[in-house]
Parts: sequence; structure tokens; C-alpha cells
Amino acid sequence: MPKFSNSNKLRIVHLLNHLALAYGLVAGEWWMWLAAFFVWNLIGSFGISIGYHRLLSHKSFRTSLWLTNLFSFIGCLATGGSPLSWVGSHRLHHASPDGKLDPHSPIQKGYLPIYLHFWGNVIIPRRHIRDLLKSPFQRFLHRHYFKILVLWAALLYLWDPLIGVFVYSVPAVFAFHAFGMINTLCHKFGYRNFEVKDTSTNNWFVNIWTCGEGWHNNHHKNPSSYRIGLKRYEFDLSAFLIEALRLRS
Ligand SMILES: [Zn+2]
Ligand SMILES: [Zn+2]
Repeated sequence: MPKFSNSNKLRIVHLLNHLALAYGLVAGEWWMWLAAFFVWNLIGSFGISIGYHRLLSHKSFRTSLWLTNLFSFIGCLATGGSPLSWVGSHRLHHASPDGKLDPHSPIQKGYLPIYLHFWGNVIIPRRHIRDLLKSPFQRFLHRHYFKILVLWAALLYLWDPLIGVFVYSVPAVFAFHAFGMINTLCHKFGYRNFEVKDTSTNNWFVNIWTCGEGWHNNHHKNPSSYRIGLKRYEFDLSAFLIEALRLRS
């Protein structure tokens, strides 16, 4: 089952959410932006950073099946693709960081296209996602990914358009830029704790938007550690949550 990590359907989703954000600028109030940032931190930490990234992609800790499935589902709401697509792309990134097979290398494909998620069609070899393909729930999420997104958006927008904007669309836009920043700024600007062979950097600004993922150079040095922030000032929200909520089993 080859995977295309960045479909045109996702581009339409991203475009619509940016338009909704523009509406939010006109119709929303300041506290709604704070609420949207809070929602993004919930989706971004539990769904993407803890779920898609540290748990599924790198198996950096173990937890129960129901939590794995819950985090996988929450991650879908960030509009970054299904866990299968995301994890496959991410494993390709680590297999060849900045190299020709890196699906979102700004060195290979340019900073602006990668920031805007124009990666071209990426085919993910089956062997990179063999473990996830064994899970019926992961196959379900992949097959029905866009239906899940549309249902989630429709429920919120029918409840109240402003709830749709600030609970679905604006957090999804934050997610879009968070992915873009990690893939570009964290391979260009910032400091390095480790002289690894790729261009990865630690970037405090990106970290504010990515739930602890901004210490990307630390992560490239040791991808199998669930703790990415290492120094006292490298706050890592996701590692904090993994420990405080005792998510490891
Ligand atoms: Zn990287
Ligand atoms: Zn990683």
C-alpha cells in the first residue's frame, strides 16, 4: 500500500481553514484566540507530539492500546494526514535527513514550498509502516481520514460557526504552521547541542508552537528518547505530560 503523504485534498482543507481564520479575525474576540491556542496544545501534544511522533513513529515509550488509539484519533484533527501517512513520512525523514529521500527536506526542495506543505507526492515504502499496517484501527483511520475530518468540522460548525472556527479551523492553522516551522526553521535557525550530520537546530520560538518539539537537534541526536528537551531551559510540554500523567506502561 504506497502512501501519498500530502494530497490535494489536504491542501483544500488547509486553504479553507486559513479562510476561516480570516473570518475569525473579524468576528472573534481575544479570548477565543487563547482558547484556540489551548485546543491546539491539546491536539498538538496528545495527538501529534506524544501520539504520532514519540509513540507511533519512534516507539520511544509504551502505553496501552486504548491510549495509543485515542492519541492517534486526536492527531487526525490536526489536519496533517492520517497516522500512517505522517509516521511513514517522518520515518523517511529520519532515515535520510536532508537527503534525497527526505520527503520534506528544505535543502532538497526549497524552504517556502516545504513550509507551505508542497512536498510533491511522496510514496512511502511499505516496510516503513509495516507495524502500523497490522493495526485494524490505524487502517480504519487512514481509509476514513477525510470523513473523520469533515464530520468533526461539521459537528462543530453546526453547533456554532465560531466554535467551528476556534475549535477546529484555527487550531488546524496553528498545526499547519507548526509542521511548516519544524520542517524549515528547525533545519536552519537556532542553536545546536549536538554536531549531528544533518542541519537540525533547537529553536525556542518554534517550541512555543510545537508542544516541546522545538528542540529538534536534540531529537535528531536521539530519536528514540521520549524526552526531547534536555537542558533546564528547554521546556518540553509533551515529556512533562508523559511523566505527569504517567502515560508510560
Ligand atoms: Zn528533522
Ligand atoms: Zn522524529
